Amino acid sequence: MTARLIDGKALAAARREEVARATGAFRERFGRAPGLDVVLVGEDPASVVYTRNKEKAAAEVGIRGRLHRLPADTSEVALLDFVASLNRDPEVDGILVQMPLPKHLDPARVIDAIDAHKDVDGFHPLNAGLLASGRQGLVPCTPSGCIELILHTRLSLAGASAVIVGRSNIVGKPMAQLLLARHATVTIAHSRTRDLAAVCRTADVLVAAVGQARLITKEHIKPGAVVIDVGMNRHDGKLCGDVDEESAMTVAGWLTPVPGGVGPMTIAYLLANTLTAATRRLGALEPSS
Ligand code: NAP
Repeated sequence: MTARLIDGKALAAARREEVARATGAFRERFGRAPGLDVVLVGEDPASVVYTRNKEKAAAEVGIRGRLHRLPADTSEVALLDFVASLNRDPEVDGILVQMPLPKHLDPARVIDAIDAHKDVDGFHPLNAGLLASGRQGLVPCTPSGCIELILHTRLSLAGASAVIVGRSNIVGKPMAQLLLARHATVTIAHSRTRDLAAVCRTADVLVAAVGQARLITKEHIKPGAVVIDVGMNRHDGKLCGDVDEESAMTVAGWLTPVPGGVGPMTIAYLLANTLTAATRRLGALEPSS
């Protein structure tokens, strides 16, 4: 058996085109483009690349993207003040503070300071709570992208068994909520899980969000399963996922490649979230007729 690859690049391109069309309509309705402001503190090389890519991707769909680069020794008070100024700015619809932050800054405090209506990463506790309650908020981009990748396989999630390896606030937990909302039976595994391979082998859908290169092999995969590889690891200078692709391909039904799977979907959903945040905010300000 050889798994089919899920083409995240193509699906992301389609999603971005949709956003570009909707951005045109937004501009006509509100007289300006939606605005995404990305804040980068320090010089972490991977973060520099990610934030530039986000700024560029925004421009490509007609979103006004702006990257603010603050020095690595920015104090917490100064960063919180800067976030507050973006909160107040009516032209700013989406705010993203790139993680990880330098060690002296508390990420939770910074996330809490972002206006939840502009929190396009969906990390603010208000948005996490709304997601957990099945109510409308802003949903983290990577799990949203993963759901689209899974749906592309036409697997019926209702009643399916889903295992997520990883319980972070940015991927594992929101992924579990989204799968639960689609009626999957959800298990979250983590570093203390006993017999990880046996737990994973129960999964019709296996989502690996661990951060350990090639941890997941054919021993962890139920024949025919849909396997979503969120991992982005550097291994021997090459980008690779949490799934050992060569081994997994022999057992899985579907697999997302790294690169070209989850990564492009994350950016596409960031753009979609910016448009959603902008439309909700400005729509709420319009006088009702
Ligand atoms: P994280 O916060 O470090 O969480 C990793 C999770 O994996 C933790 O829950 C940890 O368990 C669990 N874990 C670690 N080692 C394990 C093991 N041997 N067996 C089972 N579970 C184990 O990571 P994250 O931020 O969620 O990111 C996960 C990966 O996804 C990283 O490679 C990251 O770069 C990537 N990522 C990619 C995208 C994208 O757009 N493609 C977006 C976000 C993240 P404990 O909780 O018990 O410690």
